[in-house]
Amino acid sequence: MLSQLGDDAKLLAGGQSLIPLMKLRFANPTHLVDLNFIAGMSYVKENDGALRFGPLTRHAEIENSAIVAKVPIVHDCAAGIADVQVRNRGTIGGSLAEADPSGDWAVVLSTLFTQVRCLGKNGERTVELKDFIQDAYTTALAHDELVNEVVVRIPAKGSGGAYLAFKRAAPVYPTASAAVQLTMEGNVCKEAAIALGCVGLTAIKAKDAEAALRGQPITEKTLAAATEAARAAADPQSDMRGSADYKRTLVGALVRRAIDIAVRRARGEQVEVSHIYA
Ligand SMILES: Cc1cc2nc3c(=O)[nH]c(=O)nc-3n(C[C@H](O)[C@H](O)[C@H](O)COP(=O)(O)OP(=O)(O)OC[C@H]3O[C@@H](n4cnc5c(N)ncnc54)[C@H](O)[C@@H]3O)c2cc1C
Repeated sequence: MLSQLGDDAKLLAGGQSLIPLMKLRFANPTHLVDLNFIAGMSYVKENDGALRFGPLTRHAEIENSAIVAKVPIVHDCAAGIADVQVRNRGTIGGSLAEADPSGDWAVVLSTLFTQVRCLGKNGERTVELKDFIQDAYTTALAHDELVNEVVVRIPAKGSGGAYLAFKRAAPVYPTASAAVQLTMEGNVCKEAAIALGCVGLTAIKAKDAEAALRGQPITEKTLAAATEAARAAADPQSDMRGSADYKRTLVGALVRRAIDIAVRRARGEQVEVSHIYA
């Protein structure tokens, strides 16, 4: 239908980004192709060492999934998006396709090995998340392609992760956020993935912060180095949510807290987290 209807047709998933944009007249599609009428688009599955999400899987379904509980950082993300009304409608496929610079999913999923399966009239292709989101509101999808499945590799044993955001209130996007996924051997960090949200046009991989932890014991010194490197990697804009300096400081503090929780979870501790509200 998308290729028949042309460029002015848009897919409708949960409508939690598209409908507000239409109300503001920032989007004015001539046709809506509603995915909600297609059966079998909403699921959470585990196979071949990966979590698989259907394109129409709601944030709430992910939040409440027993399978997802095995990868706590994914649960943190789903449970922290907006309020229950938005989580009941909004979808993981719509969120990645929207590529909103403030969206949570791209931040969290870029600390895990994530693939997006894109379906078009010539068949399916698999794109790694790092290549899928190309810029703010820009993805690798062609106009007549859709996100057909999101595949997330389950981290190795001894891994732990955490996602923390700072928000003014539940139903708003974060001021800044940090996702940390670590693989530990005793007190030594074997692997580290750190991504920052809302402090750039896309999720930012804090590579120097990852390098500051990789192969090192978690000490005050390595924590300080990772925090400083994360602050340096952030590229925030001043806006109504705070000044650029404020967001830079905030993201450093979030990374530090997220590392602490990730280490504890990697040791097998059950740690509940929720976002931090102003
Ligand atoms: C008050 C409010 C607060 C919010 N707070 C947050 C927040 O804190 N964090 C957060 O991450 N998000 C937040 N959101 C956004 C929410 O998560 C949306 O659900 C999400 O961004 C878009 O998903 P959707 O299913 O609603 O997509 P839709 O709005 O239906 O679609 C969004 C875009 O993606 C396209 N699209 C949809 N599905 C597909 C697909 N399968 N393949 C290709 N293209 C597709 C549509 O054509 C459209 O262009 C908030 C939304 C609201 C209204």
